[in-house]
Amino acid sequence: PLVLGIETSCDETGIGIVRGHTLLADAVASSVDEHARFGGVVPEVASRAHLEAMIPTVQRALDTAGVALSDVDAIAVTAGPGLAGALLVGVAAAKAYALAAGKPLYGVNHLAAHVAVDSLEHGPLPEPAVALLVSGGHSSLLRVDSLAHGVTPLGATIDDAAGEAFDKVARLLGLPFPGGLPIDNAAREGKITIQFPRGLTGPRDQREHRFDFSFSGLKTAVARWVEARERSGEPVPMNDVAASFQEAVCDVLTRKAIDACASQGIETLVIGGGVAANSRLRAMAVERAAAKGIEVRVPRPKLCTDNGAMVAALGCHLVAAGVEPSRLDLPADSAMPITAITG
Ligand code: ATP
Ligand code: MG
Ligand code: FE
Repeated sequence: PLVLGIETSCDETGIGIVRGHTLLADAVASSVDEHARFGGVVPEVASRAHLEAMIPTVQRALDTAGVALSDVDAIAVTAGPGLAGALLVGVAAAKAYALAAGKPLYGVNHLAAHVAVDSLEHGPLPEPAVALLVSGGHSSLLRVDSLAHGVTPLGATIDDAAGEAFDKVARLLGLPFPGGLPIDNAAREGKITIQFPRGLTGPRDQREHRFDFSFSGLKTAVARWVEARERSGEPVPMNDVAASFQEAVCDVLTRKAIDACASQGIETLVIGGGVAANSRLRAMAVERAAAKGIEVRVPRPKLCTDNGAMVAALGCHLVAAGVEPSRLDLPADSAMPITAITG
């Protein structure tokens, strides 16, 4: 099937066009620069930017793919979770395109799309698989028996998301927003010299929170360490702090992901979401999984952060699996649970 995907859950207007497992176009217009001075995404600004970018970005994607709207088999759109006003722009546009072109509409889950996008890189995902989903707003381990019909949460963060931790630590180190890539880059120049806490890895957590995450204590530990340095008048070794913080996050994420595979008897680990772009996470996951005979799938960094290709990829998978389309009164659901693949 040929599917056009629309993503507007946060600050990226992403339009992707996918045929089967082949990516034909991935056009992204970002309003990230407009939010940078606020240190976070401003919902009203994001909605307005989506509205302005929608039609030209759809046109750009169609031109790149060399297809017409009348050629596509379905329109897929992120129905949630995300910013309500931002989602509404995408959902309204998708309905308009679906209605105008007489095509079925698929409202899809943004988080499931972060997992589905890997098929564009590595082909169909073997099922069952374990998915480590690490993004700006979510950090979860999922058992994926069928990406078309449903996933089972194994664990999730009990406080901050992994991406949120990167963004908060970047802020306290004076690095720009969003902070994931700046920390990744700083860490390459630094050494792992500080032992920061590994949240929820103690013996009792192993029983009660085996596949859950916690990053808020780590963020506080980094803040305390930096404050103590500043008080003593010594310079803050920014690159070493970045490397040590990143190591703590990646250590916990990979340890728990591989433990989840072992506990489920599953040999495929797929990693998705913006934090999956992290170079240390990618290297550590591949290395640790190889030692256990587990195959790791991580899409290229550009497909890890928000984009329309991931929505088109999931839409294509749903069409191929014979899943029913959404109704034309599809709502945007800012709190859509990961257990719902379609809206
Ligand atoms: P969600 O998917 O939960 O709705 P989101 O869509 O806003 O959240 P994504 O675009 O999936 O989030 O991911 C953005 C997050 O990824 C940000 O927190 C950003 O700092 C982080 N990120 C991006 N690149 C990197 C990197 N190289 N290393 C670590 N984190 C990164
Ligand atoms: Mg973004
Ligand atoms: Fe996302």
